[in-house]
Amino acid sequence: MKAAVLYGKEDVRVEEIEAPALKAGEVRIQIEVALTCGTDLKVFRRGYHAKMIVPPAVFGHELAGLISELSEAGAQAGWSVGDRVVVANSAPCGCCFHCQAGQENICDDLLFLNGAYAESIAVPARLVGKNLLLLKPETDFLDAALVEPLACVVQGIDDAKMRSGQHVLILGAGPIGLMFVALAKALGCKVTVAGRRPARLAAARSLGAAQVIDIGDGADLVSKVRAATKEHFDVVIEAVGKPDVWEACVHLVRKGGTVNFFGGCPAGTTVTLDTTLIHYSDLTLLASFHHTPRTIRRALEFIESGVIRAADFVDGECGLSELPGLLKSMTAGNRVVKTLVRVRN
Ligand SMILES: [Zn+2]
Ligand SMILES: [Zn+2]
Repeated sequence: MKAAVLYGKEDVRVEEIEAPALKAGEVRIQIEVALTCGTDLKVFRRGYHAKMIVPPAVFGHELAGLISELSEAGAQAGWSVGDRVVVANSAPCGCCFHCQAGQENICDDLLFLNGAYAESIAVPARLVGKNLLLLKPETDFLDAALVEPLACVVQGIDDAKMRSGQHVLILGAGPIGLMFVALAKALGCKVTVAGRRPARLAAARSLGAAQVIDIGDGADLVSKVRAATKEHFDVVIEAVGKPDVWEACVHLVRKGGTVNFFGGCPAGTTVTLDTTLIHYSDLTLLASFHHTPRTIRRALEFIESGVIRAADFVDGECGLSELPGLLKSMTAGNRVVKTLVRVRN
């Protein structure tokens, strides 16, 4: 089968590879839809991700498709060839301290699945057991493929205890920032978005943001937001992943408010925060990572109830052979939100 293989820094090649034979408990998914993700771009630039993917390895992790082959145990588990499914990009062990505490997102032994940019993928038994979900007949594969990033956003919203009536500031209007807009709006929050690209800000508006703030080159973020709005923000979400934006958050949230440092910054970076401000303003600062089997299921409910639709986030399309070129052009500054990768011609 054809697959995109990550070899290292800015080195992804589309090759003919052997589809691995299924092991006990595994199922094979014929991939109908694969989506690009911000994490892919980070990994492409760096050449690896210590936790998620170590090259050489088949690349990509957002997918939906049809079960095309079952191991015996897979069949016993109730799956059938032809089932329309989505699978998450990881599954927790279920036994470690954090899993037992209900924090499966930080499981000590998360098993990651890569290989969405391929004609098919063998799903390990643990993922089949924990994070393989059957789609409703009317659910579009393209919508379903949003489950993984959306589950991370559901995690972020739950962690920040966001609720109806709150005023929420979202910093960043990439795919994740935009998913926060859609879910916060669905929850009944009043949403303001600060971002850099007019097309993204227009997307935020159409998803229901009450106000959008163009922060231009990103310099003087705090004064630009303050000049644009007198709103007191109950919750501030950092969806950029830059230390200076993390630092700005504590100056933009109201007294007694909550900041979720959602965007992961480059390894080794640090931030400087005003301790007096944090203490006397009684701020709650937190960070969310990844998803759990529960938030994966919540995410699919949001998709299947029509709250989240791929049409609002997927703005590009390419064939598998064009993927390396697309990743290069994204590295050079071509900022599509998400691209549908057609794995078969
Ligand atoms: Zn992703
Ligand atoms: Zn665990």
